Amino acid sequence: MGIRVFALRTRSEEDIMDDGFKWRKYGKKKIKSNPIHPRNYYRCSSRGCQVKKRVERERDDSSYVITTYEGVHNHPTPLNHIALPINDWALQQTSSHSPFY
Ligand SMILES: [Zn+2]
Repeated sequence: MGIRVFALRTRSEEDIMDDGFKWRKYGKKKIKSNPIHPRNYYRCSSRGCQVKKRVERERDDSSYVITTYEGVHNHPTPLNHIALPINDWALQQTSSHSPFY
């Protein structure tokens, strides 16, 4: 068993995707290869949940946002809907709307 990692690549003006979960920002890191767009780190704000995500702009095309999730939520989605924009890449990663189930 390793840490489950799931990445989404989304064309978006917004850095933060509404994925139905509540996130708390806990870090920010300047990337050498991409100085304009720092990488941001978030932790699920649900109690006892270890899931983290990091959000960064794609280096070669900054209109894309890469969101990487790490781990599996120990609770259901707090909202009834998942507003993740589904693209081809996401569909290859999962057959359902939620990356975690
Ligand atoms: Zn969680």
